[in-house]
Formats: sequence, C-alpha cells, structure tokens
Amino acid sequence: MAVLVLGGAGYIGSHMVKRLIEDEREVVVVDNLVTGHRQAVHPDAKFYEVDVRDKAALNQVFDQENIEAVVHFAAFSIVPESVANPLKYFDNNTSGMITLLEVMKAHDVKQIVFSSTAATYGNPVNIPIKETDPQQPINPYGESKLMMEKIMAWADQADGIKWVALRYFNVAGAAEDGTIGEDHAPETHLVPIILQAGLGQRDYIEMFGDDYNTPDGFNVRDYVHVLDLADAHILALDYLKEGGDSNQFNLGSATGFSVKEMVEAARKATGVDIPSKIGPRRPGDPDILVANSDKARRVLGWAPKYDNVEDIIKTAWQWHQSHPEGYTK
Ligand code: UDP
Repeated sequence: MAVLVLGGAGYIGSHMVKRLIEDEREVVVVDNLVTGHRQAVHPDAKFYEVDVRDKAALNQVFDQENIEAVVHFAAFSIVPESVANPLKYFDNNTSGMITLLEVMKAHDVKQIVFSSTAATYGNPVNIPIKETDPQQPINPYGESKLMMEKIMAWADQADGIKWVALRYFNVAGAAEDGTIGEDHAPETHLVPIILQAGLGQRDYIEMFGDDYNTPDGFNVRDYVHVLDLADAHILALDYLKEGGDSNQFNLGSATGFSVKEMVEAARKATGVDIPSKIGPRRPGDPDILVANSDKARRVLGWAPKYDNVEDIIKTAWQWHQSHPEGYTK
C-alpha cells in the first residue's frame, strides 16, 4: 500500500517524500510541476505529472496505484499573490480539494493529511494561537485553506473521510544531507531571501514594515524546521491509521521572531554580512503569528528537534551555498 503525496515536488512535499522513503514506505507523487521541481522528488518515489484539478488523470493514478492515504501539499501559498489574484487560489486550492475528495471517495480512500496554515486564523485573538481560536482569514490564501478544511469536515460527515489538518506557521530549513532545499521562482519567503542577500544574489533584504504592533515594530512569525514538519505528517498518518478521528493541529515552535530578529539570527548563523533596508508593509500580513502546538505534542507525540532559529537557518544556508541557482531545472 502506498502513500500518495500531492505536491511532492514542492518544498515541503519533497522533504516529506524523502522522509517517507527513508521510513521504507511506498510513495507515489502527483505534482503538476508548476512550482515544484522534478529533481526534488526522491528517485525511489513513483512520479506522475498530474494537476490536482484534472479529475480524469487523478482517477487514473488511483486506478493504477494501491493508495491507502493521501498527504496533500499541492496548493498555491503566496499571500500577496492571493490578494492580487484570489480566483487563482480558490480554483487551484479549494476546487482542487473538491476534485481530490471526489476521487478519494470513488476509490474508497478514507485518510488525508492536509497542509493547512496559520493564515486561516487571520489577525489572532490570542497569542500563542490555539486550534480552538476563531478562524477569520484576512487574505484569500488563508480563506482558500479554511474552505478546504471545512469541505473535508463535511466530506467526513457524509462519506467517512478522516482528515488531519496541520496548520503550519513559517517553515524554513533544508535536508541535513544537503540534497534538497527551498527553491521558489520568484522567491518570496523570508529565509531564502535573507540568504540570497547573504550570497550577494540580492543587494539587500527589504524588511516589510516597521510600524507593526510588536515590540520592535517588525512583524513576528513562528519558524519551524521543514524536517520537524515532515515528522508531524508521519505521526498524523499513523494517527489516522490507528483509527484517530478527524482533527486539527498547529505546528510551530511557540517562539516568535520579528523580521529584524531573523535577519540578525541569519547574520550570526552564516557569519556573512547581510545588507537590509526597511520598506513598506506587504498587503495581507498580520502583526504576530505564533503557535501553541501543545496539542500536536500531546495527541500526536510530536517532538520537534529544531528549537533554535539559527540552527534552522544553518541547514538552509548549507543548501543555498551548495545550490546557489537552486534546482537547475
Ligand atoms: N518578509 C520581509 N521581506 C521579504 C519577505 C518576507 O520582511 O522579502 C516578511 C513578511 O512580511 C512576513 C515574514 O517575513 O512577516 C515571513 O514572510 P514569508 O513570505 O516568508 O511567509 P508568510 O508569513 O507569508 O507565510
């Protein structure tokens, strides 16, 4: 029986695939390669270049493979892009989920682990954020993912499809062996952009807004290592396999770092000069997003290994130094 990883050629998905293969699990990857990289997919995984919205092609994959569970990473995830082009997000993310659930239902596949996001909370009412806090997204990306959670809940009620939504905070870092890492085109995420400035590929890192309601005025996020995230997905698959009910978990470190603190941590972690400038706010950004992840620790037994942002940045730095142009294809 195989685990199907949708979006397994993307940043987080490819680390998950590697981890599953290292656990000697059978892995099937579906990715449309719009943002993913074929080279990022572990050679021992079976690969299909298929779009999650292509129902006929997805049906074929489920016909051909013996799939027991799905891990769903295949979504667009850039907040400002979603503000500018919301329909793109509702089409690929939300509508893609409907197609996927229809195909799962038709093939009697009843378990799905889903990449959700802190962006479903919007401007949080409590810090750190708990899973039971209100979900009021302030951008279409967060809204598209909240809709996906709700759709799964109704599919569970009607069809018994059990789901775990893992609400990620900010993901960073790379594989310890340096083989895979983060490569987006264009790059929009903070840690890779800081490291590109450290490599001289950018003149500086622009810090978006210094007038947020935070201690130093820069907005605050909770950074988690991509390998700790992969661990949580393995635990969530095991939880569902053991008959666990549908559930949601925050995945973060419970420690917030401002953009400025991240730049300073990167200067320490890399030992290089990283020029920075202050720019205007970016649309759709809340002041602070920090997770309470006690529930994942308690229920799933999640025990993240990276509790220090400098160590997270060091693994990303190793990848950026060895792959200055990212994946070559
Ligand atoms: N950020 C920044 N400059 C950049 C990219 C990001 O100041 O060039 C900030 C952004 O405003 C946010 C944080 O870094 O507070 C993390 O942003 P990212 O895009 O990495 O992740 P997101 O929070 O959107 O998922």
